[in-house]
Amino acid sequence: MRDLAALPKAHLHLHFTGSMRPSTLLDLAERYRVRLPPALLDADPLRVPSTERGWFRFQRLYDAARACVRSGDDMRRIVDEAAEDDAAEGSGRLEIQVDPTSYAPFLGGITPAVELVLDAAREASARHGLEVAVVVAASRLKHPLDARTLARLATRYAGDRPGQVVGFGLSNDERRGDTQEFAHAFRIAARAGLASVPHGGELLGPAHVSEVVGALRPDRLGHGVRSAEDPALLAGLVEAGVALEVCPASNVSLGVYEDLGDVPLPSLVAAGATVALGADDPLLFRSRLVDQYETARHVHGFDDDALADLARASVRASRASGATKRRLLAGVDTWLAQDPADEGTPDERPPATRDRPRLPDTAVRAAATPGRRARRGRAPRAGRQAAADPGSRHGPRPRGRDRGPRLPGARGRGRRRDPATRGDGRRRRRARRHDPGAARGGRPGRRRARGGAGRRGGRRHRPRRPALSLTRPRGPGGAWTSRDAAAHVL
Ligand SMILES: [Zn+2]
Repeated sequence: MRDLAALPKAHLHLHFTGSMRPSTLLDLAERYRVRLPPALLDADPLRVPSTERGWFRFQRLYDAARACVRSGDDMRRIVDEAAEDDAAEGSGRLEIQVDPTSYAPFLGGITPAVELVLDAAREASARHGLEVAVVVAASRLKHPLDARTLARLATRYAGDRPGQVVGFGLSNDERRGDTQEFAHAFRIAARAGLASVPHGGELLGPAHVSEVVGALRPDRLGHGVRSAEDPALLAGLVEAGVALEVCPASNVSLGVYEDLGDVPLPSLVAAGATVALGADDPLLFRSRLVDQYETARHVHGFDDDALADLARASVRASRASGATKRRLLAGVDTWLAQDPADEGTPDERPPATRDRPRLPDTAVRAAATPGRRARRGRAPRAGRQAAADPGSRHGPRPRGRDRGPRLPGARGRGRRRDPATRGDGRRRRRARRHDPGAARGGRPGRRRARGGAGRRGGRRHRPRRPALSLTRPRGPGGAWTSRDAAAHVL
């Protein structure tokens, strides 16, 4: 059995933030004191019941991850690590997708955001021995005029070399926005030779695929798996040469299909579609590029010839130069010419049944609850529960000034007890007298909210800035502020 990580391939569907290593996310969350939803780090999406999967869960976790990216150095690190990880999986060509508007606020605009990503892509290509090009993506949640602005910006950097923009995309919830209204932006991009690579046909079915194809003239369709539900539509895509960026782990994680075996990869390939497998957002789906090929092998029964064809299709659907394509295709031939017996014995279990890499529980807890509680290795139950529940009225426990006073019964410098979750009955009763609302696990009372700015442990305590809450809307009255809305895009 040949090693799929040694199979040369192109990776055409990977999002910037979604490419982040879990360990990097932890690192950034600790640095910026961001409270992460535990599900972001310790849940296995493929084992989440299908009824609990879905776009909004995904969106919430994605937003949480993106809130940890706050500097140009963070962005360079993400591009570099994505390139390194891709190269280790046999990718010779990565076309990474980014919406620069998410990162413009701390870089001074969308132009420096794009330039930084392109520069990082150039450096990473040289460092890791693969080509990293960029797809600039607009969001369905934004005004179509924003998409035009992005398209015009993208055309300034058009080219097929590493560190250049190769395509223009449209991402975020397929059910939002009027596809037709984004057509102008895609025409701007196409006139400059950029590939049209919008998302479509994952959450919505054949009618949506037809709409996207008609309005945006895609060269490649992000996902497009639902076109398998309409053979005539699929035949039309094949006829038009529209490649499909199929991401099985994403489909299952978002609940589009119950399990990997339901992803219609075989029928798409049998219909003659050009399929490029992609990981989409490995940070959230915990399934990287090679895992998609492993799925084809173990779940769908693709043999090595068929897997080599998938790799060839990915290379041909890329926007790499002719020379790069020939080199990668020759590598695929070499891989296939090898005696499979010469290879090691890779894990033959289907990806869904393997033990997925997990971070140590203590690390997860540390990220969920930075600061003193994290060093003690235990998060308050109320905080964990609130972080896991976006609808919670309580939200994560406040820090610093808003954490409230030392409660009766607490011992040691700065040690605090949460009467809602800890302590014996006597302590709880005393706490209830102190703050009835908090003792019932409700919102911290007024006295609690005002109490923590005094002396603590004999020293003047300077309250820290509260950790950023990622699990509930911010702004007056719980409404989303415009800043929140700006960040609420892929
Ligand atoms: Zn995607």
